[in-house]
Amino acid sequence: MKIITFPNKILKEKTEEVKEINKEVKELVKIMKQIMQENNGVGLAANQIGKNLAIFVAEDKNKIHTFINPKIVKFIGKEEIVEEGCLSLPKIWGYLKRYPEVIIEYQNLFGKKKKMRAKGLLAQIIQHEIDHLNGELFIDKAIEVFKIE
Ligand SMILES: [Zn+2]
Repeated sequence: MKIITFPNKILKEKTEEVKEINKEVKELVKIMKQIMQENNGVGLAANQIGKNLAIFVAEDKNKIHTFINPKIVKFIGKEEIVEEGCLSLPKIWGYLKRYPEVIIEYQNLFGKKKKMRAKGLLAQIIQHEIDHLNGELFIDKAIEVFKIE
């Protein structure tokens, strides 16, 4: 499986709730983790590999977390300008505003409801990936976008 890149319209579609965490979903998550690592990414949403489901994976401190049906329930602090890139937008970077800390509710691979408070880079990744699941890309809200060679 390959990473879908801009301007493929799959990236602009809102993803659907995962109703049952079955074998296919578990296999999909495994593939997502592999693809993310092979491409040196720190986050990947299911629609970036063409699956229209509300799932993303994120790496933090050498651990990969799986978020199923995630929802940010609280944004904490004042928005800050950060730099961001995306595996679906090769060679494009930009500046945009993100909250320094968020609280996210989600299900894990076993279907268990979880809540996590994340800050710093992980909070940024979470906000980026939630945008993907809503069909939004960081360039849609960037203050400035630039190309690197
Ligand atoms: Zn992205």
